[in-house]
Amino acid sequence: MSAKKTEISKRATEVLRLLKSEYPVAICELTHESAFQLLAATILSAQCTDVRVNMVTPALFDAYPTPAKLAVADVAHVEQLVRSTGFYQTKAKNLIGMASQVMTRFGGEVPREIEDLVTLPGVGRKTANVLRSVVFGLPGLPVDTHVGRLSRRLGLTKLEDAVKVEYELNAMLPPEEWGEFSLRLILHGRRVCDARKPRCEECLLESLCPSSTLPTKKSTGKTATKKLAHKAATGKAATKKSTKKPVKKTKARKK
Ligand code: SF4
Repeated sequence: MSAKKTEISKRATEVLRLLKSEYPVAICELTHESAFQLLAATILSAQCTDVRVNMVTPALFDAYPTPAKLAVADVAHVEQLVRSTGFYQTKAKNLIGMASQVMTRFGGEVPREIEDLVTLPGVGRKTANVLRSVVFGLPGLPVDTHVGRLSRRLGLTKLEDAVKVEYELNAMLPPEEWGEFSLRLILHGRRVCDARKPRCEECLLESLCPSSTLPTKKSTGKTATKKLAHKAATGKAATKKSTKKPVKKTKARKK
């Protein structure tokens, strides 16, 4: 391993240690009581907040408590139940398709292997890793927008592709830590390392973060900050507002 890779790997281990101390309990914020419910909730969470999904799933699971019931559901009724999560037509179709395939191909049980999970409608690698790590206790590191952003800001990767980021992080961390590392990065991204305005002054990772916006300790009193490092890591200036036009929402994709 090169000296640079060793340094990044050590940083990943330190990030893991600090996040564990800051967030001793790492839980998935999607309400669920079974693998089937978490799978359905994660499909609904595409382009939607966990809070909103948790408002919708009680009625959905009351009406369709099992894959067998959801597999034969009336699509218009499911659409009506999940409407407020956005992209409701695609999501309703994926939910019914997922349940149908769980019944016909997996005997009514949600599969555990990633190769099987990703063949289900609406299920991508991120959702498959959520299932594996949260309900099955198996290694799986879901890379969502928070995990990708924080990994780049912390200098753990330079890559944008979520699957490549997942593999890079996997190589630096013990498999039994993958799932909770992802959950803790998500918590930190939501609470401190905001996409637009990271609160570096209250961040416990600041001392090892190459993208911190705070003045460096060796500051000469001029403008010696880590902003350039931030720019290098994210492609954006740390404090400037983005001049990009808002991106139009696209169809819900596999997560
Ligand atoms: S120091 Fe700033 S940029 Fe780095 S992880 Fe913390 S909040 Fe994010």
